[in-house]
Amino acid sequence: MLNSSLQQLGAALRAKNISSVELTQLYLDRIAQHNPGLNAYITLNPEMSLAQAREADARIAAGKAGALTGIPFAQKDIFCAKGWLTTCGSKMLHNFVSPYDAHVISQFNDAGAVNLGKTNMDEFAMGSSNETSYYGTVKNPWDTARVPGGSSGGTAAAVAARLCAAATGTDTGGSIRQPAALCGISGLKPTYGVVSRYGMIAFASSLDQAGPMARSAEDLALMMNVMAGFDERDSTSLQRDKEDYAREINKSVSGGKPLTGLRIGLPKEFFAEGLDGDVAKAVESAIAEYRKLGASVVDISLPNSRLSVPVYYVLAPAEASSNLSRFDGVRYGYRAPEYSDLADMYEKSRAQGFGAEVKRRIMIGTYVLSHGYYDAYYLQAQKIRRLIAQDFTEAYKQCDVIMGPTSPSTAFKLGEKGDDPVQMYLSDIYTIAVNLAGLPGMSIPCGFGANNMPVGLQIIGNYFDEARMLNVAHQYQLATDWHSRAPQGL
Ligand code: GLN
Repeated sequence: MLNSSLQQLGAALRAKNISSVELTQLYLDRIAQHNPGLNAYITLNPEMSLAQAREADARIAAGKAGALTGIPFAQKDIFCAKGWLTTCGSKMLHNFVSPYDAHVISQFNDAGAVNLGKTNMDEFAMGSSNETSYYGTVKNPWDTARVPGGSSGGTAAAVAARLCAAATGTDTGGSIRQPAALCGISGLKPTYGVVSRYGMIAFASSLDQAGPMARSAEDLALMMNVMAGFDERDSTSLQRDKEDYAREINKSVSGGKPLTGLRIGLPKEFFAEGLDGDVAKAVESAIAEYRKLGASVVDISLPNSRLSVPVYYVLAPAEASSNLSRFDGVRYGYRAPEYSDLADMYEKSRAQGFGAEVKRRIMIGTYVLSHGYYDAYYLQAQKIRRLIAQDFTEAYKQCDVIMGPTSPSTAFKLGEKGDDPVQMYLSDIYTIAVNLAGLPGMSIPCGFGANNMPVGLQIIGNYFDEARMLNVAHQYQLATDWHSRAPQGL
């Protein structure tokens, strides 16, 4: 059961080979056994999970089951879920029980899925190692001395350790793809606007996008069918026809190699200095495998992508400083126990409620938006953001998808980069440009590097090309077995 695909689980549930209550209990037992060591979940509520499982069983018995009915998923703790503690990894929200569901959560509920628990994450999704979480670091299931990546590190660890069937993440600068790579799973950040941000606690609104994290491209496609869709409560939600993300998954050129005709662009900037040799080797083998599958390779250039980290660290903090102003100790969340007047209450609540990285971002953001610096930093960064997006538009005249490493290294040791924010920021050097451009990007496992840690292959598509990307990933997963490897001893 633990290694079954979502499609197999759905079929087993509908055939009544297993009930949703049994499957949910199976995962809850595994969580009880392994979560104390991994710290992948912040909140568990077995009673609520089992109640949903009983409802799912009733729906199955009534013959009204959908593809995901009765399957237990974990939800990143950035999504508001009615009746669930929703912390966003912060002390600021340590006591916030959400009175409503995020759009993503209500889509899973409507599908009859079970919410197994809320997964750990970097505080307000700011981080690349899960070490900024108020609830403690998450351990990488492949080596518990190493980070799982971040910010969706709890989700990545839970999926890799088989502590849920699959789970959700969010990606502002790489937070789905980088932890997926470091934990040896698959993850997809959709085109900006495809999944509603309603009820997803905001970090940098023009970059934030939710997406699925799972063990295979096939599973990602089924989750996208539930997660995507127009929602009028998010002003950036795109009004598009409902699509079946699995429609092309098995597409294969008949009579020849399955991916004949596919043109893969390799940006020279992604294979330059800074990329670890073991990661480069695994990614190059993956490209060789794609050639065997019939794809051709084109050398491309994304000349402005080298500016994506500095541009991101102006724009994301600017948006964060504005978004996080709502946490003031008045309406919800943490309030300092002692204060003299209103201003003092704001100051103390924010000083005590936010961690160091969040404060650093709020200060940078406030600075770059302030009078006198706005033109020099914020406006300048917005202009370069446009140039970065244009590089991709140019590149897609020559290729269908872009490939490269997801992250420059495999999972690093806990504490290794803790004192050096810039080193930490560089672990998203290949993922950030995709968010700045609003493009879809994914990471799939493509081998192992030094110390036997997983390596991720990044696949970047053109706008709304998720179905093709999932096909490209699936064909690779039919030909290789990296995605089905599991950490030892779990
Ligand atoms: N690691 C990046 C950051 O710290 C990206 C985080 C994210 O995608 N949420 O901002």
